Amino acid sequence: MGKILIALVNNLTREMYAQNFSKNNFEVITASNGKEAYRLAKKEKPEAIVADVSLHEMSGFELIKNLKKDKNTSRIPVLIYSRTGSNLHKKTAIKVEARDFINGVWDSPKKIVLKVKSHLGAQKGYLIHPSEDSFESLKEMADDLEEDAYCPFCKGNKSLYLIRDLSTGKNYFKVSLVCPKCSFKGPSK
Ligand SMILES: [Zn+2]
Repeated sequence: MGKILIALVNNLTREMYAQNFSKNNFEVITASNGKEAYRLAKKEKPEAIVADVSLHEMSGFELIKNLKKDKNTSRIPVLIYSRTGSNLHKKTAIKVEARDFINGVWDSPKKIVLKVKSHLGAQKGYLIHPSEDSFESLKEMADDLEEDAYCPFCKGNKSLYLIRDLSTGKNYFKVSLVCPKCSFKGPSK
């Protein structure tokens, strides 16, 4: 699944998060202060980091800023954890471009595992080719999404690409219209 660095102050919370990620086949490394987290991030290059706002020696926010200075670590998504879930923490997390915000009061480790999986694009995508009959529906959808129903390159009919968005919930999907021949990318909506 990938490697994740859990940098949380509270021993019990850190252990709980570590267990949940391990159960989901993540390789887990942990740190209890910011400097240690920074050292491990550089050395181990995790795919994602959960960082406590209140880390000693280097706060979660400072950790993000320092990681962004180095191109080897600048792209690692960092989820900021706030034990109190305060609004100020949330605002600062957005300002320093944290990938996500974990409200320690409301969010369960289980939910955060799903969020991280979703950030890492670990979930499966489904490509659906509409028949001629249902292509009318796809055209309507394309209108709604303000996209083309036909490929700009080969002029062929586009298909539907669905990716389950586990961060939002079990039955939520991100939809894009893609040309099955030319590209597999499209702006996700
Ligand atoms: Zn095409």
